[in-house]
Amino acid sequence: MNFSQLIAHPEWLLIVLAPIFFVCIALEWYIGNRKQQLPPSAQYHQKEVLCNMALASLHQVADITAGLFISKVYLLFFGWKLFDIEMNWATFILLMVAQDFCYYWFHRASHRVRWLWAAHVVHHSSENMNFSTAFRQSLMYPIAGMWLFWLPLVILGFDPNYVVFAVLLNLGLQFFVHTQAIKSIGPLEYIFNSPAHHRVHHGKNPQYIDKNYAGVLIIWDKLFGSFEPEVETVQYGVTKPVNSFNPLTVTFAEWREMWREQRQSELTLRQRLKLIFAPPASQQINKKGS
Ligand SMILES: [Zn+2]
Ligand SMILES: [Zn+2]
Repeated sequence: MNFSQLIAHPEWLLIVLAPIFFVCIALEWYIGNRKQQLPPSAQYHQKEVLCNMALASLHQVADITAGLFISKVYLLFFGWKLFDIEMNWATFILLMVAQDFCYYWFHRASHRVRWLWAAHVVHHSSENMNFSTAFRQSLMYPIAGMWLFWLPLVILGFDPNYVVFAVLLNLGLQFFVHTQAIKSIGPLEYIFNSPAHHRVHHGKNPQYIDKNYAGVLIIWDKLFGSFEPEVETVQYGVTKPVNSFNPLTVTFAEWREMWREQRQSELTLRQRLKLIFAPPASQQINKKGS
């Protein structure tokens, strides 16, 4: 598959990159599980890896299916574009940076708005961190509304196929920050997201919660006050563990919880909206009715 074929069918990008992902996984498994040179939380456990792979497959199927509808919406808005942007290397890099900026805000919202967190928590609910953690994705992202965050790029005038390609390339590049095998990437850490920065993002240590939302560039966290360096050893996972390797249980746990809470008949409209849109960490307070 060449570049122009990929632009015509960007939904295949992650499948095309899959062989590279599996080589990285095999190498990390070898130095972690076989050579025992990585901490226990970096090791591969069969049940979890199978769960992660199933989640990646479900996510891929959901994305391709939803893409049929979303591409129509993008084309509709592309008809009202503000600028005619001709795609070349310069505008492609501009698109990558602009998309990464949108990703930062999507990711930040995914941690601060429970509706989005219900999808994103899947990615965070593992207590281990290795390349297979990158495969933990939710099939619910299209319903949560992830695609809305890329709509401004289409309205600006970037070709929707290039926008989807940039979104998936960003996601593909993020695979490489899910490892404990690489301590640092040197001076590149000032500008780019790195394994160290992203380990912090997966931490449940109090100082690491809701930090380092970066996709490819770490500069957004530094600009918007959400950067935290890796100092203390990271404890991986979320404060409310899912305790399951069933991909469907993992996918729907938070949605079910949200639905169960909505069924309480004594709630006011304000409380109901808070249960859906307030930050997930404040839900305990919401349950007490404030
Ligand atoms: Zn996150
Ligand atoms: Zn991650």
